[in-house]
Amino acid sequence: MDLLKKLILSVITSLAFALCTPFITQASPLAFSTERIAGQDRVETALKISQKGWDSALTVILCEYNDYPDSIAATPFAVNLNAPILLTKGDSIDPRVVKELQRLSPDKVILLGGTACLQPAIEKELEGLSLQWDRIGGIDRYETSVLLAKELFSDSMILANGDNFPDALSAATFAGIKQIPIILTSTTLPASVIQYYQETAPKHLFVIGGEVVVPTKELTKNNFTIETRLGGYDRYETNAKVVSFMKDTYQSNDLFLASGITFPDAVAGTVLASKSNAPLLLTEKDDIPPAVYSIMREHMKVEPPTQDSNSSNGTNSSLNQGKVTASGGLNLRETPSSTGNVLITIPAEATIDLIEKQDQWYKTTYQSKTGWVSADYLTVTSKMGVISASGGLNLRDTPSSSGSMLVTIPKDTSVELIDQQGQWYKTTYQSKTGWISADYVTLSTTNAEKPTTPATPSAPINLSVNGQVYILGGTGIISSYAQTIIEGKVSSKYTDNLKTFPSLPSEIKQPTDPSRGDDDITPPADNPIENPPPVTTYDPSKEVLINPFEGIPANALSGKTIMIDPGHGGPDKGASGPTPTYEKNNTLAIALALNDTLKQAGATVIFTRDKDVSLCTNTTYSEVEDLQGRVDLANKSKADLFISIHNDASLNTNVQGTSTYYSEDNPKQYESQHLAVSIQSAVIDTIKTNNRGPKQSGFYVLRNTTIPSILLETAFISNPYEEARLQNPTFQKNVAGAIFIGIYNYYKNPLPEA
Ligand SMILES: [Zn+2]
Repeated sequence: MDLLKKLILSVITSLAFALCTPFITQASPLAFSTERIAGQDRVETALKISQKGWDSALTVILCEYNDYPDSIAATPFAVNLNAPILLTKGDSIDPRVVKELQRLSPDKVILLGGTACLQPAIEKELEGLSLQWDRIGGIDRYETSVLLAKELFSDSMILANGDNFPDALSAATFAGIKQIPIILTSTTLPASVIQYYQETAPKHLFVIGGEVVVPTKELTKNNFTIETRLGGYDRYETNAKVVSFMKDTYQSNDLFLASGITFPDAVAGTVLASKSNAPLLLTEKDDIPPAVYSIMREHMKVEPPTQDSNSSNGTNSSLNQGKVTASGGLNLRETPSSTGNVLITIPAEATIDLIEKQDQWYKTTYQSKTGWVSADYLTVTSKMGVISASGGLNLRDTPSSSGSMLVTIPKDTSVELIDQQGQWYKTTYQSKTGWISADYVTLSTTNAEKPTTPATPSAPINLSVNGQVYILGGTGIISSYAQTIIEGKVSSKYTDNLKTFPSLPSEIKQPTDPSRGDDDITPPADNPIENPPPVTTYDPSKEVLINPFEGIPANALSGKTIMIDPGHGGPDKGASGPTPTYEKNNTLAIALALNDTLKQAGATVIFTRDKDVSLCTNTTYSEVEDLQGRVDLANKSKADLFISIHNDASLNTNVQGTSTYYSEDNPKQYESQHLAVSIQSAVIDTIKTNNRGPKQSGFYVLRNTTIPSILLETAFISNPYEEARLQNPTFQKNVAGAIFIGIYNYYKNPLPEA
């Protein structure tokens, strides 16, 4: 409880700072970190995007670098094949592209467009490289879009004007994620498009752009039925409308930003954005148009300050510091060994933060490089604490009151404090390293050289914005000034962007709601999210099978009906890992294990799927139909709970951890939240992943079901370590066991009566 109150207070305080600090409100309400993906020219930018998103690719799509109309409709097709789009000039393959093809080593290269833009010489060159090729190219851009559409299975169609690029580009990630073809038209409908519409009779027609670019009159004349039109008065407003319309689909906190004026840098990026489940926004060169700015602000998720152990802004949590004594400087090495690669030499007399110790080596960060330095050439200043708890203080294996107890440290013992995470100190006692609650530690001041200045309103606020903006293209098309607006360092010149925006997202409040009686749950603020343990190799034998029934009575769930929803399936593979492995298989394996466990506990189990299928009854797959199928089953089932199982994914392959989602729009939102908290806690305790917390989100299956519903993002399939874990049957069983424990605790500790 103390811990919780403190956290609430600290969150409120930091929020108050955030909202009244000049840093945030007067400069810009945006504060994203940014990463620019750009090369010397558009060819190289496409290569950079490919390198960012693909280790290898079975298929690569090649486009002529000036020929946007043919490539503009290619996104859903490319996403379906998980194929990067590369650009080249039309008469020969750019040597840099040849190199990238060698790196990706595809089975096939698809040439997009006719022989007028990608000439036959290119085919010869590919053959010379022993690469198979195929060509998709119609007589014009409209027909090419129809040919691409025929490669997809969808009951929907997106129609955009192909005479200029921004509207189609705005729809591209929507189309990519939803796997809906983009059909290009002019202000009059081309014959090929009319014919395609008649042949396929799509159930849903989305028109992108206003009346001027795609006139209703022309559509109705040809018996097209518009279901939705997403159009603004300019390209940016249209872009904002499309992204807003899609917002439940974007699972990523990241954003992609492309030029709304110059096209080519964006096309390859649309595939990457779709792959990352992130929106693609369009911008002007020097500023962010208000409609887009608002979307960026809405998308910005902020978390309370995390204890970033290697920051240097005064909120530093590293408790140990070292001063370099070697006169020639000290080498920072990649590994804790004198044979490790030298990353940089740290000059003599420099003071560094010591993050971790291994034998005679300390881990540290210097000039944003993290590595190891020899303890022999350091004067170490460490911080000590004295245990004040009268009965002694428990050393736990995680910085949480639910962490396993390693040993009890007697009162008045003096210990070295190695690290801090929230209200927990890391320390070593009787050769066991673990965590103790800061509430029962008196700091000894004698050794504390380093001032621990509290955050003052004038200091920069260490708010961690969850997600970053990937800027596609160089400063010639999206300027550094625009970049600094996004980073919150300067103000936008648009007065509309200087208005007062609603306060920052609900996520901040969620884990700290004191009315729920979940005092034992460690809020996620305690756990650094972007600082996963630096584990790279996975040893499957280290995964120990737990007994989930320990301490739980027999038939604990007798009389309960639980619906298990393994995410994705059939044509929808879900997210994929680097190996590659697919989410749909992992979710099914965990679901089947959960079925066994729940049945043993006496529950009745219903599945949305128990094999590799989608819920679509039509011959063609549509995500909405699949999700609605799951919702219908749940709502008709009279089940007590709905448990959806997924894997998370991020472009940043370092990101690890577990989240459990619930929706405020679910009629049983409080039960759902309680269930999410309970399952999240049990899962973290069991599989010891990074705790990304219980979270609110409007996932389709959560907001449309009428029973208490949660969605577990088990771990990151995009992270090689967690990808390997997700594959391990022991891990899968432990996740199932943990979900069961969470369900059991949910019933054991009911919500207090309102
Ligand atoms: Zn999923």
